Amino acid sequence: MNSPESLSELDDFARQCIHSQDHPEDIHKFQPFYCSACKSAALKLTIEHHTGSEEWDFKGIVWGECTTCGYLNRLFTFTGDSRQPLREERPVCECGGRDFMVGLCERTEGEQGIPGFFDEGVMVGKCTLCHRNRVFVYTD
Ligand SMILES: [Zn+2]
Ligand SMILES: [Zn+2]
Repeated sequence: MNSPESLSELDDFARQCIHSQDHPEDIHKFQPFYCSACKSAALKLTIEHHTGSEEWDFKGIVWGECTTCGYLNRLFTFTGDSRQPLREERPVCECGGRDFMVGLCERTEGEQGIPGFFDEGVMVGKCTLCHRNRVFVYTD
């Protein structure tokens, strides 16, 4: 389940979501998430949307509860002091599963742009039951 093959497939899926093939000069970095307590890769997500959050431009916090040890990991934060929590979303796969392997792929501009300038990113997951890939949030 936590094999390098399935993570590289999730990496490929994330790159497709942000059209990496249209940005050959830029750098795409994929970062898988693990429980910081026990290193398990199976997480239950809670996506906390804050004011200003859009489908293509997420603002808020993504939490990942470890399905092995129960530790609540703060996976991703993209918010500010002036933003208020709006609603929470608990992603469920089409198969009913709630446990995902989760990763973040971010594009930063390479040689042709300003090096290190963040362009866009996507947080994706693979259901640990049926192995379906899905998008959780886009950041811009
Ligand atoms: Zn854990
Ligand atoms: Zn599933």
